[in-house]
Amino acid sequence: MNIVIILLIAAAGLFIGGRWALKRRRTEALLAAPLPGEFRQILRAHVPIYNALPHELRKRLDGLINRFLAEKKFYGSQGLEVTDEMRVVIAAQACLLIVNKENRWYNTLHTIHVYPAVFSSRMMRAEGNVMMEHRPVRSGESWARGPVILSWDQAAYGAFAAHDGHNVVMHEFAHQLDNETGVTDGSPLLDKDQSASRWARVFQEAYSRLREDAAAGRANVLDAYGATNPAEFFAVATEVFFERPKALRDAEPVLYDELRDYYRLDTADWV
Ligand SMILES: [Zn+2]
Repeated sequence: MNIVIILLIAAAGLFIGGRWALKRRRTEALLAAPLPGEFRQILRAHVPIYNALPHELRKRLDGLINRFLAEKKFYGSQGLEVTDEMRVVIAAQACLLIVNKENRWYNTLHTIHVYPAVFSSRMMRAEGNVMMEHRPVRSGESWARGPVILSWDQAAYGAFAAHDGHNVVMHEFAHQLDNETGVTDGSPLLDKDQSASRWARVFQEAYSRLREDAAAGRANVLDAYGATNPAEFFAVATEVFFERPKALRDAEPVLYDELRDYYRLDTADWV
């Protein structure tokens, strides 16, 4: 091979390797840095679950929030000006899901769009042979490989009401995790020590119970919205795993164990 070509390939390799190393160093610095004091104050005041975290996890969460704020772009919709409070409160809840999942990141998500309140989204639905437009009202939406769309009043209330089992940010970011496999179907990418067949069995059984309860109008620890389909079931179960973990462990102990192994967190132990 021509010596010039060899030198060019070597230079390109060094350039790409250098950029990769630089990016990695920048990420590590963000993950290791403490959260700015004013951001911590926002979380202490508006995200009660932040105060309940064990010290080590809170430190890890701080680093993930730094990275999230540095890498993800927030856009306000309908004239909303996105403030630091909005960015920090949303980032904290999104990152809580992966706080103890080694090397997991929202790689394909680049933007978060924030509406002031609930919004309607345009959808087409087949009615007989005709496609009809309808506009369901939503508090959040998660698109495959990003973006996530959120209503700020619902995101703020979800953070503040930490024990009602409803949290739109966790719900939409659970969908993002679910989509890591390329399909949002309630079967997220499991760690090597988790059994896919056990996950499928446990989730199918709990999902069937919720569907039966929802059809009969019976109460269940999980919101009836989770009976919509397996993807919604995983997102709804995630909300309850973080916000009402003891109730979930009592009512659905095997489902709780699967979620504990998936998120690598024992949320029922948090004070
Ligand atoms: Zn959903």
